[in-house]
Amino acid sequence: MLKIGAHVSTSGGISNAVNEAVKIGANTIQIFGASPVQWKAPLPDKETALEFIAQCEKYKINPVFLHAPYLINLASPKGNMPEISRALLKKHLEISNLIKAQGVIFHIGSRGDRNKEEAENLVIKSLDEILSSVKDGKLLIENSAGAGNLVGSSLEEIGSIIDKVGKERLGFCLDTAHAFESGILTDFSKEGISDFIKKIDNFIGKEKLWAIHLNDSKTPANSNKDRHENIGQGMIGRDGFSNFLSEKFFYSKPIILEVPGYDNNGPDKKNIEIVKKMCNN
Ligand SMILES: [Zn+2]
Repeated sequence: MLKIGAHVSTSGGISNAVNEAVKIGANTIQIFGASPVQWKAPLPDKETALEFIAQCEKYKINPVFLHAPYLINLASPKGNMPEISRALLKKHLEISNLIKAQGVIFHIGSRGDRNKEEAENLVIKSLDEILSSVKDGKLLIENSAGAGNLVGSSLEEIGSIIDKVGKERLGFCLDTAHAFESGILTDFSKEGISDFIKKIDNFIGKEKLWAIHLNDSKTPANSNKDRHENIGQGMIGRDGFSNFLSEKFFYSKPIILEVPGYDNNGPDKKNIEIVKKMCNN
């Protein structure tokens, strides 16, 4: 069964996210487990967590993913930033487990003027520590749009980190807009897509792709500017997505939309319907 959904709002409480999902016809969702712009991440109380789990079961919404706060920077050269980032990501993994989500999708962050190898080692150490101390739940590294010193914009880098951490619960979330903007996937022809799948397999391993953020891009290839657009309305375009979604390797994964929506209210039914049709072709 196709798993197509979106990032949905939790305003009014996490169980409201399920109402949002039902409204737009999503059967998989991503939510913020806590404020994306705050350093605190209170665990939901047991009742709230149970209600959310029951709602997801009732409407057959799974998997659920959490998106980590944007503040997290595991590679930062600044003071205690790596430590507090590690603690916050750990907290979100705990929230994910409490609400029976599959895991947390996160960006590694910028290494600034920190040396590349040192930054990678620090990231590896942090991820190993989080996955060792929290016994359940997955972490998914999302590729970034990739200006300069951001860690995790190339498949090589993500693959190397996943490999060196060497834990089964660490995988990859591919964001199509970021891939286009960072330049790791600019050719959305059938050949370009099948080459890209080979690269994923070479550098990361096919089995490590656990989710897809399906977004078109407002900005051109290699722009390093992260601006999402509705599916088919951006620089990747309708044909590009048709080619991408003709690959079972991609349409068999949970697909999460993070698009602005036709009314600018976030991902909507129309975008989901467009994607569904493309997957069936
Ligand atoms: Zn994304």
